[in-house]
Amino acid sequence: MDVVVVGGGIVGLSSAHALAAAGADVTLCESDSLGTGSTARSAGGIRTQFSTRVNVRLSIESLRVWEAFEADFGVDIAHRRPGYLFLARTPETADRFRENVAMQNDLGVDSEFLSPAAAVERCPGLDPDGFVGATYNGADGFADPNLAVQGYAASAREAGVDVRTGTPVIDIVTDDGRVTGVETDAGRIDTDFMVNAAGAWAATVADLAGVDLPIHPRRRQIVVVDPSRPMSGDVPLTIDLEEGSYFRPERDGTALVGGHFAETESDADPDAYSDSMELDWAATA
Ligand SMILES: Cc1cc2nc3c(=O)[nH]c(=O)nc-3n(C[C@H](O)[C@H](O)[C@H](O)COP(=O)(O)OP(=O)(O)OC[C@H]3O[C@@H](n4cnc5c(N)ncnc54)[C@H](O)[C@@H]3O)c2cc1C
Repeated sequence: MDVVVVGGGIVGLSSAHALAAAGADVTLCESDSLGTGSTARSAGGIRTQFSTRVNVRLSIESLRVWEAFEADFGVDIAHRRPGYLFLARTPETADRFRENVAMQNDLGVDSEFLSPAAAVERCPGLDPDGFVGATYNGADGFADPNLAVQGYAASAREAGVDVRTGTPVIDIVTDDGRVTGVETDAGRIDTDFMVNAAGAWAATVADLAGVDLPIHPRRRQIVVVDPSRPMSGDVPLTIDLEEGSYFRPERDGTALVGGHFAETESDADPDAYSDSMELDWAATA
């Protein structure tokens, strides 16, 4: 069985590896270099605190992969676990948090609801008057996505994946509603199946096959700051849910800060995104 995977981010690489390990003949086409899309910008957060049962279950499964990553893929992804702390500014959000914790506990996740005072113990420096409650799970944390890309890329190649960087898929060949090949600048690749792992470009790729895929790109910003008071590595990844901002320790006392503050953000062409940080955004963050 021949498979072409379109996109060499974390999703394309992990899919290509899994397919090759299961016996498929896999070619992976990446327009640019491996892991240069959203994957390169990710905060690397790994958590099981979600608000739907399906997301909690999926994250429990993926946590097993990250926990065994070094043994299975030979790369230490710097998985640190100072926890995730979600902050609620309103009683309504706090009520939702309590329901989430009950659902998460039911699925085996060891999360808990915290008072503002207890949250400040987890994250010193927070203003306890700014929020009414929080949830915390000490097993949550973050890892380095670029190291995960390296691990998957090496293992995918070892499993026989033909990894082609600098190779955009420019057309998809179909016959009677089935994909039979993809076109690249270097020629056509015949295939039985195609995996669309093009991330923010997924709708554009689907359109090449005449498929209308409802995936809408959103631009996000993230920045590393060097606070006057160095951030301890024990500080959890802390999210102000209503404001939409978050931070976590990076390394050597620096912090990684992200978030999105615009009320409505229209779709944007990811190829036209500015890679620069907006100062207004940074000031709000
Ligand atoms: C600021 C930020 C913070 C984030 N933080 C977290 C977090 O803490 N935890 C978390 O779980 N997730 C986080 N995410 C989300 C996470 O980064 C993405 O879900 C993940 O990286 C998506 O991986 P992907 O492989 O689908 O996409 P990408 O990494 O974008 O890969 C898609 C690839 O497809 C390629 N491509 C596109 N079109 C074509 C074509 N025609 N032919 C060939 N190749 C093509 C692109 O070049 C790209 O490399 C964050 C994202 C951002 C932006």
